[in-house]
Amino acid sequence: MSKGFRSADETQALSDQAVSETIGEILAKDRQQEEHAAEVRAHGGYGMCEDCGRAIGKERLEALPSATRCVACQATWEQANRP
Ligand SMILES: [Zn+2]
Repeated sequence: MSKGFRSADETQALSDQAVSETIGEILAKDRQQEEHAAEVRAHGGYGMCEDCGRAIGKERLEALPSATRCVACQATWEQANRP
């Protein structure tokens, strides 16, 4: 085998690691958001967008019970917080 090339196994292991790190980050973010949503709920603000104060659509809450922003504010927030 020539030097300077990673073996297939090593390459696979590296990409597996990258994938599990990404999944871990997403899960940690989801957990944070769920805790945050529970906090908002405890303060009686559940179902209201925390940015614009308008009601979050019922369909959105059914699809994503941990949502604390309306679709428009969430899109803006994600753009601003994208790494
Ligand atoms: Zn909003």
